[in-house]
Amino acid sequence: MKSYRSNALSRRSVLTSLLATVTLPAWAQTIPTNPDVVIIGAGSAGLSAARTLIAEGKSVVIVEGADRIGGRAYTESTTFGVPYDHGCFNVMGPSNFAYLDMAEEWDFDLHRMNGAGETVYVGDRKATGTELDQYDAAWGTMTSALNSAGRAGLDVSAASVMPDSFGDMKFAGLSQTWLGPMDYSVDFEDLSVQDWWQSGEVPSRYMIKQGYGTLVARMGQDLPVILNTPAISVDWSGDGVAVETPAGTIQAKACIVTVSPGVLSAGSIRFTPELPDWKQQAIGNLPMGLLAKVTLQFDGERFGFGKNKWLSYVVPNDMPAEACYFLTWPFDFDIMIGWVGGEFGWELSAAGTDAAVDFALEEVVKMVGSDARQHFVTGHLTGWAENPWTLGAYAAAMPGHYGARAELAKPIADRLFFAGEAVAAPYMMLCSGAYMSGESVAQDVAALV
Ligand SMILES: Cc1cc2nc3c(=O)[nH]c(=O)nc-3n(C[C@H](O)[C@H](O)[C@H](O)COP(=O)(O)OP(=O)(O)OC[C@H]3O[C@@H](n4cnc5c(N)ncnc54)[C@H](O)[C@@H]3O)c2cc1C
Repeated sequence: MKSYRSNALSRRSVLTSLLATVTLPAWAQTIPTNPDVVIIGAGSAGLSAARTLIAEGKSVVIVEGADRIGGRAYTESTTFGVPYDHGCFNVMGPSNFAYLDMAEEWDFDLHRMNGAGETVYVGDRKATGTELDQYDAAWGTMTSALNSAGRAGLDVSAASVMPDSFGDMKFAGLSQTWLGPMDYSVDFEDLSVQDWWQSGEVPSRYMIKQGYGTLVARMGQDLPVILNTPAISVDWSGDGVAVETPAGTIQAKACIVTVSPGVLSAGSIRFTPELPDWKQQAIGNLPMGLLAKVTLQFDGERFGFGKNKWLSYVVPNDMPAEACYFLTWPFDFDIMIGWVGGEFGWELSAAGTDAAVDFALEEVVKMVGSDARQHFVTGHLTGWAENPWTLGAYAAAMPGHYGARAELAKPIADRLFFAGEAVAAPYMMLCSGAYMSGESVAQDVAALV
């Protein structure tokens, strides 16, 4: 990975100049000048790392490039007048985890999503009972082939381990599209069997009325974050680290990097010395997949769709499919949240909001008729594809390279550490996983600094 920047790192200006250039709340007066640890990124992982280190009595500064905390956990209420998560929305993880405890402690409204139920369309009608049995059969064939390959330790493409019969099964396209683009953010042929096999069980699945982003922001609200301050370079050539930002350089004993592999691979943070080859290879083998939301707001008409239900439809078995699957009327809000992923998600994102919203609305029209257009109010496409702070939705190990997650997780020289969803196995891709990753890395760092 080559850096695009070549200017030498200045050790002259430290946090004092940085503090002079940004607007900080009163509590930020306590931000340490030379902290024990500097954390890059105020997403779920960076914030949890900071909480953990502070609880261990360490001094911490988080530098965040964007103008808000939360990263890929982001709720806003402007677009639709109700809380709308651009990124994570399903609070999921092991049977118990920190965000569940926080949501309960802070009186957030949770709605259990296990067994939420899925409405399946075949053209303009709902699937019959026989067809739903066929869907179950396709799903079962797909997952049992993946389980066998995973158990055997195969690290290959999911598509490559399907039995020949799968290609002829009705609903094979729908099953692959849910699992690949909509879940793992890559097409089925780009999905690593080991990513599937090693993913942890998620017995807890909830939606949160106020938004997952709101919960993450609440968790991080009192932490020492400096916004609008991207890390430009990290010099780890000395005893500690020096993290350069446009507002000055922060010296610390150790640095925790929590930015996405997409950001690392783009080279927007220069490392001195360069990251070793094995680390650069790990980053290259964890490309970002894309999951984008195309959300439609209607005028209160429900089209017979239930609230808090998944909605999907049959697509051809030839992949990649052009599909947008929905969650209808979450919390009885007047919105259908649509998801597009994988290559089609990248294409639709490149085409822009109007094209994406037209596509999603047309898919609804195909199911319920042109009446849907009369009731349509407005639509929205999330911008994760081009967001410079993420450059995609979440990382997917390339088939053959599941081990890249563990490689990316390895610290360098006891002063450069990596955390975030990409290294959060077995809860990679998840916001709860990112939290656990930050917490666990911070405990390692606390023992050293
Ligand atoms: C559309 C979508 C749907 C999702 N749905 C779910 C879901 O339902 N449930 C679930 O659990 N997970 C879901 N996820 C995944 C979840 O959002 C992520 O796994 C999690 O939020 C990642 O947290 P993180 O801390 O690893 O990374 P991030 O949140 O990306 O945090 C990294 C931070 O680093 C900052 N940064 C980047 N570059 C720099 C720099 N140079 N200097 C300083 N700061 C920088 C970024 O702005 C960001 O704030 C979804 C993601 C997307 C995109």
